[in-house]
Amino acid sequence: MLDIQTRNAALTALARDRILILDGAMGTQIQALGLSEEDYAGQSGGCACHPASEHPQKGNNDLLILTQPQAIEDIHFAYAMAGADIVETNTFSSTTIAQADYGMEAAVHELNAQGARLARRALDRATAIDGRPRFVAGAIGPTNRTASLSPDVNDPGYRAVTFDDLRLAYGQQVRGLVAGGADIILIETIFDTLNAKAAIFACFEVFAETARRLPLMISGTITDASGRTLSGQTPTAFWYSVAHARPFTVGLNCALGASAMRPHLAELAGVSNTFTCAYPNAGLPNAFGQYDESPDATAAQVAEFARDGLVNVVGGCCGTTPEHIRAIADAVAGHTPRSVP
Ligand SMILES: [Zn+2]
Repeated sequence: MLDIQTRNAALTALARDRILILDGAMGTQIQALGLSEEDYAGQSGGCACHPASEHPQKGNNDLLILTQPQAIEDIHFAYAMAGADIVETNTFSSTTIAQADYGMEAAVHELNAQGARLARRALDRATAIDGRPRFVAGAIGPTNRTASLSPDVNDPGYRAVTFDDLRLAYGQQVRGLVAGGADIILIETIFDTLNAKAAIFACFEVFAETARRLPLMISGTITDASGRTLSGQTPTAFWYSVAHARPFTVGLNCALGASAMRPHLAELAGVSNTFTCAYPNAGLPNAFGQYDESPDATAAQVAEFARDGLVNVVGGCCGTTPEHIRAIADAVAGHTPRSVP
């Protein structure tokens, strides 16, 4: 494996050369496996691969890194072979804060370290076949708490989590991802910018400890038609709140399909002086919470982002599959990447 400086330089050179492809949803692929509680927990809950917990584990997708590693590696591999240059670890909820719901806080370091190793293994398998370089992005989700909003309508000053709680939890997560060999840290689905700022701060603390800086990808979520994040920021305000991190990419993911994301992406591309990244859902969910936009339909909209010079990295969020990623990769292949001002 190349050293970190060489890998960072290779990633930047690739992003200047063409539009890079990020992978698609993990949840959709996991759901298709139809796993039981025993599958999630591993050997009827008695496996030695994770700490004991009183809580049921079905739905704890991140735990599958430890209990069903081959299944997760195979999903990463499918995305790599579908054309993804950057593949996300299955660690969206691998913080002590998010794992508290499952009583699995003690597994956090292993989840992140193993999560990065599994992704690396899958990408190395793909690269052995076609020789294309690929990068592991350590995925960091927003957690289920917000640092700048109160969950209690009767007590607007109340906070369920503080900046320092988040900083410490994210720091532990980032240490695990770095130990497992992540090439990039991806802070995604940001609905509260203060949570993201705690994650950024934690990344820089770990980079200082380890004397190596990984590229950051920072991705916000516009949750409704008002064109603002849940914590009330426009795309422009969001950019100025995270620009100090000098991220490799800034962008948007999730929440809305590609068409609804477009004006917000255009605004972000207009103000940011770094690469942009967009990975929308496969349209809006239907009445059953499922996504049924076809790969070609999603790809056609993402191709418009590319045609209009708005993007440097594209992929898919909720409801997207390896077929969506293959269609997106094909659809943007003829377009030049956005030129960074
Ligand atoms: Zn999503």
